[in-house]
Amino acid sequence: MNGLPDNESMVNEIIEMGLIKSNRVKNAFMSVDRGRFVFPGFERYAYFDEPLPLGESGQTISAPSMLGIMLEVMRIERWHYVLEIGTGSGYSAALISRIADFGGVVSVEHNYNLFKFGKNNLREFSNVLPVFGDGTAGYPPFSQKPQYDRIVIMASTNTIPDILLTQLMNDGFVVAPIGPRNYQELVRVWKNGKVEKYGGCIFVPLKYGFD
Ligand code: SAH
Repeated sequence: MNGLPDNESMVNEIIEMGLIKSNRVKNAFMSVDRGRFVFPGFERYAYFDEPLPLGESGQTISAPSMLGIMLEVMRIERWHYVLEIGTGSGYSAALISRIADFGGVVSVEHNYNLFKFGKNNLREFSNVLPVFGDGTAGYPPFSQKPQYDRIVIMASTNTIPDILLTQLMNDGFVVAPIGPRNYQELVRVWKNGKVEKYGGCIFVPLKYGFD
């Protein structure tokens, strides 16, 4: 690497690690500047492959390599509709929206300050709908209609709420870090119940309700 890291050098590093494989994921990472999503004060760390704090909330913007793994596992197509739970900074929603450029992303966040932060960061991403709410109810909340090709939970949980599987299309799946607080496994759970595992990871816990 020559000089200071920038978005391109960060993405090239993740490609060299073999974690970004497909052109669609690569192009999304190249076209979204992570520096525009980090919390004020952390700009100089934006292009390091590390999770970064999101203010005082105790939440973090995921490491880009982890998002690379997740986006490859998600196998998003251009026309897909994706539900994301945990908008945080909006960075992952922005990446997904660039892959699903003929479809769209609904991204739910239940911390009001982060919702406002993420929504502002996403204002130029016209196919993302940021929503303030509890993602464990799906969106629209408790709707029984199958309506998403993919659902991704950006926080850890022991189980996937049933309503999320209900809101999946028949050939869709949920990607989520499943397990206890200190260690989870990245899994893909299909509507028909089939489970596939993609290795260990650590995410902040998913909250249930507004406790
Ligand atoms: N994807 C984000 C990082 C997500 S961190 C990014 O790229 O920046 C996990 C996020 O999930 C946090 O912002 C947290 O507030 C949110 N969260 C936790 N439980 C939630 C719930 N039940 N519904 C919606 N969001 C939730």
